[in-house]
Amino acid sequence: MIIDLTNILSHMDTTENVECTLENDRFQLGTDAYSILDKKPFTLNLVNVMGQKLLVNGETEIQLTVPCDRCLEDVTISVPVKIDYEFRFSEEQIVPAEDEEYSFLSEDYRELSVDAMVHDEILVNWPDKVLCRDDCKGICPVCGQNLNKKDCGCDRVVLDPRMAKFQDIFKEFKEV
Ligand SMILES: [Zn+2]
Ligand SMILES: [Zn+2]
Repeated sequence: MIIDLTNILSHMDTTENVECTLENDRFQLGTDAYSILDKKPFTLNLVNVMGQKLLVNGETEIQLTVPCDRCLEDVTISVPVKIDYEFRFSEEQIVPAEDEEYSFLSEDYRELSVDAMVHDEILVNWPDKVLCRDDCKGICPVCGQNLNKKDCGCDRVVLDPRMAKFQDIFKEFKEV
C-alpha cells in the first residue's frame, strides 16, 4: 500500500490517521520467502509538526509461517512491528537525513510504501532461532526422519576421528 504524503506535508499542524493493509502475501528474506498469514489492518498516524517535521507512528504484529530450524516443520511466528519515524521536510518533500536511505520512500520523497516500511521492521525483529518447540529433536542426519514423530533407530553416533583417539587413551588409562 502506498501513502501519498502530499496532503499531510502541505497542511501545517494537521494529523492523518491512515488505515493500512499490506499488499504483500510473502516476506522475502534473501532467497527465502515466508507466507504472511495475518494481514489485519492497522493505523499509521501521520503528524505534520509546524510545517517542518513529519512524524510517522504505528504498531502491528505480523504472523508468518517459518520452518523450524531443526525439523523444518512449519511454525507460525509473530513478529512485532513498531513504526516510529521522524522526518524533516521542506517544500512538501521529505529531506532525508545525511547517510540515510529509506527504501520505503519514493524517489521524489512524496510517497511512502507501507509494505516496504513493514518489511524493514520485520527484518529488524526477525528471531535468531525458530523452533517448533524448545526441545525439538530435529531430523535424523542419516535417514531424514522427523525425530519428534518417531525414532528411526539409525546409528547416529558419528565419532570425530580426533575424539576416537582420546577414547583409546582413556581406555589405556583404565586398563593400567
Ligand atoms: Zn522442530
Ligand atoms: Zn534415521
